[in-house]
Amino acid sequence: MKLIAANWKMNKTQREAEEYVSKFLPLVKDVTKTEILLCPPFTSLCKVSQMLEGSNVKLGAQNCHSEKKGAFTGEISTVMLKDLGVEYVIVGHSERRWIFGESDEIIHKKIVACLEEGLRPILCVGERWEDREAGMTFKVIETQIKLALSGLDAFVSKIDIAYEPVWAIGTGNPATPEDAQLVHRFIKDLVGPVRVLYGGSVNTSNAGDFLRMPDVDGLLVGTASLDPESFFQIIQASE
Ligand code: PEP
Repeated sequence: MKLIAANWKMNKTQREAEEYVSKFLPLVKDVTKTEILLCPPFTSLCKVSQMLEGSNVKLGAQNCHSEKKGAFTGEISTVMLKDLGVEYVIVGHSERRWIFGESDEIIHKKIVACLEEGLRPILCVGERWEDREAGMTFKVIETQIKLALSGLDAFVSKIDIAYEPVWAIGTGNPATPEDAQLVHRFIKDLVGPVRVLYGGSVNTSNAGDFLRMPDVDGLLVGTASLDPESFFQIIQASE
């Protein structure tokens, strides 16, 4: 089944999250062929979790820590996320890698922590513009995936991968569906049968073009997921 995931990033107060979900759930109630995922900020997980109970929408977190508990001020563990009803965790988003300095080693540990807790990680990979210009796209993707999934070959069916070219995120400048298709195929040839989502300036007009590609198995949507109507339209493109 295709997965259409919303990454709200650092947006929406609890009240705004509540308003969103009350508008969103009636819109998507008849969606049956697509897995729908909302990833609010940590502060709204509890409220959104309660509202999603019994619905066809799943709950995800945008990050986690790799340890289960302890002296890690300001961090949130996979045990805590599981306790809130979270099923998915976005791991290694480019904003975590490039703004917060997350290394491939840290990302690997977070993936392991998710798997140990029965949470499904969405591993984000993607090249920067300078990598693409230098013809390094496939090499960068291969390195990120090999390091993140080192020793985890047996768990590939429990992981999703999001191809998110860094230059396409939040820029209004998406990859072409054909370029995304090439990278998605490359990832599957490297890893085996894995669900690969595309992310990077997906909107209501281009979602269908990506989803028509044979190896695009879903979408990770930032900006366009902040409005319930727009996100619903993107989901409809997958139905
Ligand atoms: C993202 O944050 O994962 C993302 C793809 O953002 P946007 O859709 O805004 O490019």
